Amino acid sequence: MCGIVGYVGPDEALPIVLEGLRRLEYRGYDSAGVAVLDGGLGVLKRAGKLGELEAALAHEGSPSGSVGMGHTRWATHGAPTDRNAHPHLDCAGRVAVIHNGIIENFQPLRERLQKEGHEFVSETDTECVAHLVEEML
Ligand code: GLU
Repeated sequence: MCGIVGYVGPDEALPIVLEGLRRLEYRGYDSAGVAVLDGGLGVLKRAGKLGELEAALAHEGSPSGSVGMGHTRWATHGAPTDRNAHPHLDCAGRVAVIHNGIIENFQPLRERLQKEGHEFVSETDTECVAHLVEEML
């Protein structure tokens, strides 16, 4: 079962989001990721335990901003890989989506969106939502 944490407030979002994900670790998961908004979106995700994500943040630099969200994934569509970890982005990198559950009709949605020119980078059902929101923007 996945875990989702979101924060909007006066403080730095990332430490709060990571602490929330730590508290959700007991639920079990196969990958984890975060998105932080500060003008643009800073996104980092990794297969494996939270420690893998934290090591990547330490290595690549932590995104800063006071709006953030995080996800621990339990894969249903697509292998547990960095690429399939949440958040998922639209083509422009303006929309980030994390999601719990299954989108039953993701295949026809994906095919339609691809025909219309949307480029998918993951195997997940979730990524459809980022492209659907992009379409509406
Ligand atoms: N179906 C989504 C996926 O496979 C979400 C899984 C979850 O709830 O963690 O990425």
